[in-house]
Amino acid sequence: MLLKRIKRLFKRRPVSPKEPETRPAPREDVRSAPRQRDSHLLMWESELRAIAAETSAWTIETGGDLFGRWQDTPTVYLATRAGPKAIRNTTHFRLDVDYLRQLSETLATDWSLRYFGDWHSHHRLGLIEPSSGDRRRIRGLCGRNQFASMAEIIVTVEDSRRDPIIRIHPWLYDLSGDQDAPTPLGIKVLRGLSPVRHALLASGTLPEQQFASWQEISCDRIRIGDDKSPPALEPPPAADATTRDKTLAQLARALEAASTEPIEQHKTGFGYIFVAKLREPHYLGFALSADWPMPVLEVHRLNRDTGTNEPLKLTAALAASDIPGILEIYRAANAAPNGAGHVDR
Ligand SMILES: [Zn+2]
Repeated sequence: MLLKRIKRLFKRRPVSPKEPETRPAPREDVRSAPRQRDSHLLMWESELRAIAAETSAWTIETGGDLFGRWQDTPTVYLATRAGPKAIRNTTHFRLDVDYLRQLSETLATDWSLRYFGDWHSHHRLGLIEPSSGDRRRIRGLCGRNQFASMAEIIVTVEDSRRDPIIRIHPWLYDLSGDQDAPTPLGIKVLRGLSPVRHALLASGTLPEQQFASWQEISCDRIRIGDDKSPPALEPPPAADATTRDKTLAQLARALEAASTEPIEQHKTGFGYIFVAKLREPHYLGFALSADWPMPVLEVHRLNRDTGTNEPLKLTAALAASDIPGILEIYRAANAAPNGAGHVDR
């Protein structure tokens, strides 16, 4: 059935370049405060473990940044590592500001993520709250960015044993009223890998972030606040529309750059079909499932003059975010313009 639908689509010549079917990202109301004071932060298990892994790699203060979408519930999609010029010592940690600025821009453009604030360890301080210096810095950031609220995570380490327990203490800065001091935030942990980390890992961007390192530490060594046991993991929701749209938009952009032609995009019952031009009259069509992580179901090469259609054999499982893998298929098809059986020599 899938094949039939692809065949039908492939026979159509492109009429005009089609705009990507992306919905605008839901606007975040930066001026509105969280609805409840006792609100919580939503965070993927991968991001919690990434923080714990980076913390346990150091015996001095370290940290990074929190990026997410602040709608009804602030949701952390990515906890990053600090840039190469960060300064770490026993009682102080300073971010690499230039690196952070660039990272924030990339994550805002590519993934509609906004900067929530930082996370950092108090290895020696033992202080579970933001220090007075931390508070000044976050308040300054709130003012400069016109954020009504920000989050900060302080991490402490119980190093009385060989594999220390890492404690996570999330704080909320609500600057919409006259509330001055940060208040403790609850945290709900979603099981598994954040869809944004998943896509970044697959696309191979920002390699310095070592996005796979979250797996180095298990949840058993993590506690939220003064909890006695590891965090309960909640079933994650399906990947949200913004994350899907951004993933598809990046794939379309990469294919467009490779083919130097606009990509046809079609929405279908099973998901999406992207058609990239090879050399006239040849085209390459990718059928992608709508189910996250949007695996590539089939790839077909079409000759639009003869209406013939040749399915390509896929040697590896690919998803929409596996941009290098998809480009490899595209380039291989482009290098053999008449199909596998008719390689030009
Ligand atoms: Zn601090």
